[in-house]
Amino acid sequence: MSMFEDIPVDVGVIYEGERIRRKDMQVELGGPSIKEKFEWAKVKPLDQVEDGKVTIIGPDIKDMTEGQAYPLGILVEAAGSTLEPALEGVIERRIHGYLNFIEGFMHLNQRYDIWMRLGKKAFQKGLNSFEYIGKVLYKLFKSELPIIEKVQITFITDPAKVKEMYPVALEDYEARDAKARGLKDEEVDKFYGCVLCQSFAPSHVCVITPQRYSNCGAISWFDGRASAQIDPKGPVFAIERGELLNAEKGEFSGVNEAVKKRSLGDVDRVWLYTAFDHPHTSCGCFEAVAFYIPEVEGFGVVNRSFKGVTVNGLAFSTLADSTAGGRQVDGFHGMSIEYMRSKKFLAADDGWNRVVWLPKEVKERVKDFIPADVVDKIATEEDVQNIDELKTFLKEKKHPVLARWEAEAAAVEAAAPAEATAEEGAMIPVATAASLPIMAVGFKIILKDAKIYAKKVIIRSMKDEKKT
Ligand code: SF4
Repeated sequence: MSMFEDIPVDVGVIYEGERIRRKDMQVELGGPSIKEKFEWAKVKPLDQVEDGKVTIIGPDIKDMTEGQAYPLGILVEAAGSTLEPALEGVIERRIHGYLNFIEGFMHLNQRYDIWMRLGKKAFQKGLNSFEYIGKVLYKLFKSELPIIEKVQITFITDPAKVKEMYPVALEDYEARDAKARGLKDEEVDKFYGCVLCQSFAPSHVCVITPQRYSNCGAISWFDGRASAQIDPKGPVFAIERGELLNAEKGEFSGVNEAVKKRSLGDVDRVWLYTAFDHPHTSCGCFEAVAFYIPEVEGFGVVNRSFKGVTVNGLAFSTLADSTAGGRQVDGFHGMSIEYMRSKKFLAADDGWNRVVWLPKEVKERVKDFIPADVVDKIATEEDVQNIDELKTFLKEKKHPVLARWEAEAAAVEAAAPAEATAEEGAMIPVATAASLPIMAVGFKIILKDAKIYAKKVIIRSMKDEKKT
């Protein structure tokens, strides 16, 4: 007899990774068009939790209009004689995995970024109430994490109530993150890995260290340790750090071995503190993307909730598509906001001295962690709209990347033949890039630290090309 026989749709791991397109969705819960949304776990005393209770505050799914998006808060309150508040992050992250087990239900992201869709077919089969979703969560929490003795689940869809609870949840996430700050990677002999996102990104393995928070921003090193202890067969596992192979880049023999094994050989080398060469893989639920801007030799960072286009004209979704899927993409780095508060944040690439653009909202959130001599030199969408304006801004502010421009100019001058500078037709650099991929039939050729010189640059319109 199935544990889920009273649920109108199937429930199981085979549904993990199921995507629900807009045209197939009954309703959307949270997501990019909804500002306030959250999922939040709290550990409570045993006498304050009614085991199995599911509460709905606001309209239920059956009361919602087809095709519309709604605010949602999910509160999971758990209790157990040995359950500690330190496990709240672990419990909370399981919501993602468990909800994705439901046929016709999709859950993405975490904390204040949650995005869910219920498919029309699942709704037509009878999945029309949060009661069922709460029951699935209840049963999975109790069967997968026996340390939880009692659990009650509340779904909040009343916009006023979601709005009221949202800042309280944010404060709680911040308090949790703050507790995890301070420990250094060098001070531990174990890191933790997570493969929960492999349902969407099959070769992705998160490596969680004290100074590199998980990509989703929902699992600290402490959460990783707790999760591996209470559920050793679960998605989070210990990684023996092994030998330090490269302190600057953040390469460890144990990390390479664990990632190779868990990605089934797809990824065999990871550098934890850089976005170049062997960057940490990016899944799909990272909170932000760092993207290299070759024109200024610096990085932009954009977060998921940023609505506009970034300084290079691309939106978060385009940049996320360029890096997601468990790949290592040179110059792109899916990551959490909390990682930006770490001393190891892109440390091998010169850290904050290399960051040139951020959405204002992100800058405000991490301001206290940006070195005081750089903070005003980083542009936001309010300062610049495109790369030319960014260049001017960086020059005016004397951003540290200017030293790279000068070094670059000096290198180009030294490389060019002396007489050529004076002659017409001299070789001039027409492109420089840290990494320049060239696609050829069947091959991808990557030129590292490329400088391309041309005797002449001919610009022809595509229309003219067609005519000839
Ligand atoms: S982003 Fe990483 S840590 Fe977070 S759930 Fe996915 S794999 Fe796990």
